Amino acid sequence: MAYMASETKRPMLLSLFRGLLRRCPSCGIGKSFKGYVKVADSCSHCGEPLGHIRADDIPPYFTILIVGHMIVPSILYLEQTSPPEFWVHMAVWPTLTLLLTLLLLPRVKGVIVNLLWVLRIRGDET
Ligand SMILES: [Zn+2]
Repeated sequence: MAYMASETKRPMLLSLFRGLLRRCPSCGIGKSFKGYVKVADSCSHCGEPLGHIRADDIPPYFTILIVGHMIVPSILYLEQTSPPEFWVHMAVWPTLTLLLTLLLLPRVKGVIVNLLWVLRIRGDET
């Protein structure tokens, strides 16, 4: 395959952990993002090219999946054990959903980008 720069083995778990920290999958020191969720063209430390990796809709999909599985059971549990006033639901759950989403999205994207790097998937295959 022409896009495989080297045949060296890339460590899966270490790279995924580095993605959780939004770090470069190769060195773990440099940042792999140049904004909130914009992937940097290359690592700021080792120069590993990252800008060609396209995660597309995978990070938002997994973020929605994770946040949904945290919020919905919490709502049901609270409603079953000690149902609060309706305004409490309207104040707490949308706010908590927004905060969790904003917190998790860049981390999930870091994991996905690093997973694609480990698997040598660029995202532009035809
Ligand atoms: Zn690096």
